[in-house]
This record gives sequence, structure tokens and C-alpha cells, in this order.
Amino acid sequence: MNRRRRIYEGKAKILYEGPEPGTLIQHFKDDATAFNAQKKDVIEGKGVLNNRISEHIFTNLNAIGVPTHFIRRLNMREQLIREVEIVPLEVIVRNVAAGSLSKRLGLEEGTQLPRSIIEFCYKNDELGDPLVAEEHITAFGWAAPQEIDDIMSLAIRVNDFLTGLFLGCGIRLVDFKIEFGRLYENDMVRIVLADEISPDSCRLWDIGSDEKLDKDRFRRDMGGLVEAYTEVARRLGIVSENEPIATRGPVLVK
Ligand code: UDP
Repeated sequence: MNRRRRIYEGKAKILYEGPEPGTLIQHFKDDATAFNAQKKDVIEGKGVLNNRISEHIFTNLNAIGVPTHFIRRLNMREQLIREVEIVPLEVIVRNVAAGSLSKRLGLEEGTQLPRSIIEFCYKNDELGDPLVAEEHITAFGWAAPQEIDDIMSLAIRVNDFLTGLFLGCGIRLVDFKIEFGRLYENDMVRIVLADEISPDSCRLWDIGSDEKLDKDRFRRDMGGLVEAYTEVARRLGIVSENEPIATRGPVLVK
């Protein structure tokens, strides 16, 4: 592992140089952070689950023609991806009021929104990822108007797909965050979905009980995070009912 060149280390993932030019390896760590990294912990097994859940979602998005950076999963914690230039925006799609939207507009958590809402935050940890308008994005050159259009139509397709996927297994997709990148191929540049989609970046509520099956369990000190992520993986059919998700590497048996 040490022989590979580390390109970037974020809060929950590491990017390594890939086996071929134009590829990278995305490694999922067990680190959990919230509130702009003021709250931190290591939750054993989280990275393995997010790798599998994100693989499942990105594979299906590729299959329905949503362009993504995902190529294939390599092992328990890693996936092979295409190298892209990340657009410095967090794109948040909301179906139900929760989190910062509830606070900002005084909406009770759980209120169905009149329609899906897309928000943009400028990706900048020092500033705490502030909410920005399209005006800021184009004025400061973070993305061109055509790129914003592409991002919005892809975000809506991802939302429609994920809403149905989760509804089919008894989960309400409250909101989620996605990121996009510019993929340079020959003389062309196009916007593709990047990063990850996992219970770290979505709010997922059980339809019957409203039980939270996402990172809010960590943010709100509720415990049971790995159990909740495992439940999401089971419902998506990624792991079978009794299959334990191995969280460590192989154990040497003498
Ligand atoms: N989110 C994320 N990373 C961030 C901020 C938000 O993945 O840095 C996700 C979060 O998990 C939720 C959605 O984006 O599914 C909306 O988050 P919100 O703006 O309500 O912020 P929060 O309440 O998490 O601070």
C-alpha cells in the first residue's frame, strides 16, 4: 500500500494513483466526522459498508446512463475510478425538510417539500461549505452556466433513481449530497457524477418507523451506526440476511 502514491486524503476517503493514466483508487476509511470535522471518531466497518453501498448505486447509475467516475470495486475498501477535476460544489437534493434546511427556514423535520429542491454549497472547509447561489458560481467561475444545467439535470435523474431504489426497500430518501467532476476525454470535457453515495451522504429514514439509517446517528450520538448501514446494505440486497460483513483483513490461522 505504501508504494502507491497518495494523491489526496480527505475526511473519509483517500485517493491513490491508479494503475493506468487517468485512473485513481478511491479508498474508504472508517473515520467519521461531522460539523466540519469538530466531531470525530473511528467506526470500525463503516468504510467497508460505504464502499459496497456506493458501488451498488454507482453501478446502477452507470447502467441507466448517468455518467459517473466509477469503474469497478477492487477490494473491501477500494474502488477504481476515473480521474476527474472536481467541481468545487456540494450539490444537495432535498425531498423532505431536515437538517440545515429545517433550521434555516423553521420547517419541522419530516415535512414533505412541495417539490424536490436543489441547493449548492461552495466546497471550502475553512468557510464551512457556505450555501451559494448560481450567481456566485458563475461570477467566481466555479462552474459555467452550461455545467450548472448539466449538474442540475443529472442531480434530478439521480434523485429520481435513488428515491425509487430506496422506496422499493422501505426507506424514505430525505436528502443527499453529491459531487460532480469534469472528465477530460480526447478533446472533450463532460460533467460526470463523482465522489460517493452512501449513508454518510444521504438521510435515509425507515418508512414505517422513521428510524434513521444514516450518519445522523453519529451526528446526534444515537449509536448503532454500523448496524444501520448494514441494514441499508441488506435491504438493497448487497449482503444476504446472515452474511457477516468482514471489517478486518484476513486473519492468519496457524
Ligand atoms: N451532507 C454531506 N456532507 C456535507 C454536508 C451535508 O454529505 O458536508 C449531506 C447530509 O448528510 C444530508 C444532506 O447533505 O444528507 C443535507 O445536509 P444539510 O445541509 O441538512 O446539513 P447538515 O444538517 O448535515 O449539516
